[in-house]
Amino acid sequence: MMIYKNYISVLYIDLSSKKISVKHRQDLCEYLGGVGVASKLLEENIKPQLHPLDENQPIIFAIGAASSIFPVITKTVAMFYSPLTMELGESYAGGRMAMTLLFAGYDAVVITGKSKKPTYLTIKSNNIAFKDARALWGLCTDETGRIIRERESGEGKRSILRIGPAGENLSSFANVCVDTYRHFGRLGLGALFGSKNLKAIVTIGDQSIQIENFKEYFKVYKEIYKKVTETKLMKKYHDLGTSVNVLPMNKIGSFPTRNLTENHFEYAENISGEKFAQKNLIRKMACTSCPVGCIHIGQFRREFDEGYEFESVNVAYDYELIFALGSYLGINTTDAILELIEKVEQMGFDAISTGVVLGWATESYKKGLITNDHTIIPLKYGHVKNYIKAVEYMAANTNEFYKILSKGSYKASQKYGGMDFAVQFAGNETPGYHTGYGSIVGHTVGARHSHLCNAGYSIDQSMEEFDKEKLIEMIFYEERERCILNSLIICLFARKVYDKNTILLALNTIGYNLTENDLTTIADKIYKTKLKIKKMLKFDLKNIKLPKRIFQTPSANGKIDENLAYELINLYNKKLEAYLNTDL
Ligand code: SF4
Repeated sequence: MMIYKNYISVLYIDLSSKKISVKHRQDLCEYLGGVGVASKLLEENIKPQLHPLDENQPIIFAIGAASSIFPVITKTVAMFYSPLTMELGESYAGGRMAMTLLFAGYDAVVITGKSKKPTYLTIKSNNIAFKDARALWGLCTDETGRIIRERESGEGKRSILRIGPAGENLSSFANVCVDTYRHFGRLGLGALFGSKNLKAIVTIGDQSIQIENFKEYFKVYKEIYKKVTETKLMKKYHDLGTSVNVLPMNKIGSFPTRNLTENHFEYAENISGEKFAQKNLIRKMACTSCPVGCIHIGQFRREFDEGYEFESVNVAYDYELIFALGSYLGINTTDAILELIEKVEQMGFDAISTGVVLGWATESYKKGLITNDHTIIPLKYGHVKNYIKAVEYMAANTNEFYKILSKGSYKASQKYGGMDFAVQFAGNETPGYHTGYGSIVGHTVGARHSHLCNAGYSIDQSMEEFDKEKLIEMIFYEERERCILNSLIICLFARKVYDKNTILLALNTIGYNLTENDLTTIADKIYKTKLKIKKMLKFDLKNIKLPKRIFQTPSANGKIDENLAYELINLYNKKLEAYLNTDL
């Protein structure tokens, strides 16, 4: 339901037959947009009986009703059948993609089928083209982006999505790189691209749009802009970015270190946001239509030849990357972390999963579950050069071990042992918050097992007195409320800017006369659709087995009691069962 229309414009692309169609779907308007529309389209197109990487599985992209026309409403959602968790795949990326889809005239895109040979797609308002990508196959994400930028016009109104070798070789946690520094990171969308022989997608926004009630719209725009830029609500994201969290998380004992054998890192000062800013930060960037600029780019120097030959390399960093490719692997300098991030980026892996998978492999190596016969090089905490090699081996499926490792820590531990210390939740590797019951239950019950589903880690930090029922209520409330934010799709960093009143005001100026109750109804519809898909894919919270490690290493709120954690998950499950039986 892009502005002033009473339908959702869906572009369908079949890579096998090269058939293209556009449907104007009025029925989808009740989902508002973003994750709502994408969930419904996934429900319609998914093939639960087939493997996630079967060519008949769909990739869905969607933007929201106010995408790019209000500040910080920048994201595009991708939905798919995740090869990592074998259930609901949901991932968000910023950059320019939302803006380009808006200006190309599409609210959602559904891609099915498989191209016979490597292909990249260009999507414009009246022209969808299938282009030969054989020369790009095997190239890293950077090279691919550079070549496509040279080939395709539309600079500034163009977004380039591409995969690296990890996606081509079907790693279950391969990502899709968007406009260099943004990603559809989690849950393996890159593998779906690879399984379809789809190397890249270029979206070009070649139309313009008119704002009908410009005066009213601009008044609200300015109010929101002011809130974003002149209050403290988003200041921390611009200043140090999320890496500001390193020291506080370390201090309270929730900074996972060395495969979560510890909850704080003795070298945290060396890899703090402050240290990155002093030593490496060279600029800050922003997604299109965001005045914040939270993307922090750091620079390190790399020796590329003998005789003191150096090049400077620019890499984006944030809290999750510092934890996953820093403390989790015992890496204690900013330069070394940036070097590892760069390799992960070029190969096209999700950074969180990569760090956690390597953490499991390092401990398995130490315990003798795997040897040099598997790993080729020794894996030891802090040895960044070997980790860089391991990332290359994993991307190339160099041997059987690395091929299995590229399927995630759960599958690797099924084969080699060490499930107790494969720190994953329902198959998705842990984010960097070992805060307490809120984070553990939140990751487990979250629709996509991400810290961003319901921010259980934040509830852990704000809840004054532990209360089971209250915790479950708070997680449920957040999970459902975020369906509204993600239907629009607002960057979650701006969640405090966009309270319900602000959302309604903004929507009102672009033709949506909704009430608070309407928003709640929409949120229910979306959450229930996601839960329905999870059920269809046979996901059941009763089958979850949590890794022992999370109970062994104390969290910020002390040791987690295993029985109580399962009891809480059970409580949440009961709540969901009752919720699914309520009418909309
Ligand atoms: S706050 Fe950061 S991630 Fe969010 S829209 Fe702005 S630049 Fe992008």
